[in-house]
Amino acid sequence: MGIEEKLPAGFMLTSVEVLAGYMRQFSVWPATFGLACCAIEMMAVGTPDYDIARFGMERFSATPRQADLMIVAGRVSQKMAPVVRQVYDQMPEPKWVISMGVCASSGGMFNNYAIVQGVDHIIPVDIYLPGCPPRPQMLEHAILELHKQIRSTKFGVNRKEAAKAAEAAALAA
Ligand code: SF4
Repeated sequence: MGIEEKLPAGFMLTSVEVLAGYMRQFSVWPATFGLACCAIEMMAVGTPDYDIARFGMERFSATPRQADLMIVAGRVSQKMAPVVRQVYDQMPEPKWVISMGVCASSGGMFNNYAIVQGVDHIIPVDIYLPGCPPRPQMLEHAILELHKQIRSTKFGVNRKEAAKAAEAAALAA
């Protein structure tokens, strides 16, 4: 009997996924952009005091095509919304999003026509980080929480397609 027959179904693929997830979590490259005051705290995590390089993230990517994390740091204006969506679409899969601060997550104090009332109206969000602004340590905690999600990300999962399928299933129910 060959080794494949002795192993449970999917053993090899699962093992490779676990290994890839473990390595991926320590090589996340955030896209370089900030929207408002929360971005100042986001920039602080790159300083020696907070040392985001510990997580393999010292390189903020100048192009979305080489980024796999979007940190939405600050309020999203209606004018900026299509740009945020375009940047997100240009990032390759798999990719993740942290909504940093109350403005990005819900509009915060800006309950008005000019501000998107939550960035999840335009892109999927993996981690919501509260605060105004969240301190750099809170962003690092969010990144550590994101690591758990990255470790469990399956191969070949396109989140846009998965979200569409879930929406269609919800409508059909
Ligand atoms: Fe600025 Fe506070 Fe809004 Fe962040 S949550 S963008 S710090 S007002």
